[in-house]
Amino acid sequence: MDLHTTDGKRRNFLQTLGAGAAAAAILPLASSCRRAETPEASQDGGMTAETPKHENAVAMHGQEAEHKAPTWQTANAPMSDDMYPYVLPSLPYALNALEPHIDAMTMEIHHDRHHAGYTNKLNAALENHPELQRRTIGELLCSLEMIPEEVRSAVRNSGGGYYNHKMFWTIMSPDGGKEPEGALAEMINRDFGSFAAMMSEFDQNAGKVFGSGWAWLVVNGDNKLQVVKTSNQDNPMTDGMRPLMGIDVWEHAYYLKYQNKRTDYISAFSKVINWEQVAQNLDV
Ligand code: MN
Repeated sequence: MDLHTTDGKRRNFLQTLGAGAAAAAILPLASSCRRAETPEASQDGGMTAETPKHENAVAMHGQEAEHKAPTWQTANAPMSDDMYPYVLPSLPYALNALEPHIDAMTMEIHHDRHHAGYTNKLNAALENHPELQRRTIGELLCSLEMIPEEVRSAVRNSGGGYYNHKMFWTIMSPDGGKEPEGALAEMINRDFGSFAAMMSEFDQNAGKVFGSGWAWLVVNGDNKLQVVKTSNQDNPMTDGMRPLMGIDVWEHAYYLKYQNKRTDYISAFSKVINWEQVAQNLDV
């Protein structure tokens, strides 16, 4: 896949595990990022317009193809079309709605302070960069190498924090904790063997995140479901994967109620996962 391979210096921060036995694809899903094909890409990336197919075929045989400059990637992930100025989304339920699994005080601090902080810092980072203000959050996270170095870390951390938490609130529900149905269930069975096997791998990965980070259920570049983990606020989109749902394992997500017992928090999270929303995240 020609996703982020154009920047050889970029650190591969995504740690992945095998997704289980492969089988024929059920849904023709694209991966999270793809090269922008709009003429607009040439204005920002200094690239010429999309090369006609026959010329491109010639170029691919030469050195030119290997030295092609990075271009903006468009995102193909849920909720990735947000743009500046970013707005802290309201919680889709009351602060205490996820109790006893996730307590109201944690939800309040997590949403009103941490998520608000990421949102404000992202806006501040983009304040003096109008060329970045008209990029979607998905484009920013898919194309970190296109972002000026002085704000790249801020966009990576605060932009990731903004997006990750926005998704996080939606994939939890007081009516959650059931089992996936339909196409999502079929994909889980295909790629992990069973729902229980997938959840076991997910929980293990969440437990193994060293320090702060997330564990995710994603659609990878081969259109297979996979469990991955990321550090800090990094998002799987940056590695060309489409996140369907993720668990925040920063201590701020659980320490008030669970202290150092992250495993108990991970178990509690599984009881509030909104599988209907996760299934909808397949259809972007
Ligand atoms: Mn968090």
